[in-house]
Amino acid sequence: MKELFPLSAVRCDYADVSGSRPVYLTFDDGPNAFCTPEVLDVLAQHRIPATFFVIGTYAAEQPELIRRMIAEGHEVANHTMTHPDLSRCGPAEVRDEVLAASEAIRSACPQASPRHMRAPYGMWTQEVLAVSASAGLTAVHWSVDPRDWSRPGVDRIVNSVLASVRPGAIVLLHDGYPPDEERPYTDATLRDQTTIALSHLIPALQRRGFVIRPLPQLH
Ligand SMILES: [Zn+2]
Repeated sequence: MKELFPLSAVRCDYADVSGSRPVYLTFDDGPNAFCTPEVLDVLAQHRIPATFFVIGTYAAEQPELIRRMIAEGHEVANHTMTHPDLSRCGPAEVRDEVLAASEAIRSACPQASPRHMRAPYGMWTQEVLAVSASAGLTAVHWSVDPRDWSRPGVDRIVNSVLASVRPGAIVLLHDGYPPDEERPYTDATLRDQTTIALSHLIPALQRRGFVIRPLPQLH
């Protein structure tokens, strides 16, 4: 059992000293042919930027969705090639998982330049942080997790975010499903609650004075 790196070493929020109220929306585990276009439609409707932590094998299968994300002003970030628990991988495997995912993103869309990385299941180790740093990727966790993947109901997703959101918060949502997990839902019901919750969440955050921004680029 490897020692997990303290979360204090990983970005969980990006508080802004200027007194503005930024919030960052992030989507993991896509792109998914069914769910991702729906999420992109809602973001486009509200002209809101987001960061998609995509799985490399999915990016290779759905390059047009990576291109659409970039064309619509979103950031495409690294969520590894096959979504393993990196704390159980050897050093070479960690390196391959991270580098191959960035390569898959760039092959899908040459304009994409992954700057951020999120470890599957938030399993950060010293090794994962070293590899991501050497690949030029900032490690990004989250501070608000409404557990949308468990389909707790649209209202619960919205209320859970609104109850815990603070200026600088990084909100974790999902537009896909990892390949290493059993899939209990059909395409149509996989992320339906996430999409509907998002369409309520954006105006609700804005009414509270939050500004939804792209993740800052630190390098
Ligand atoms: Zn994931």
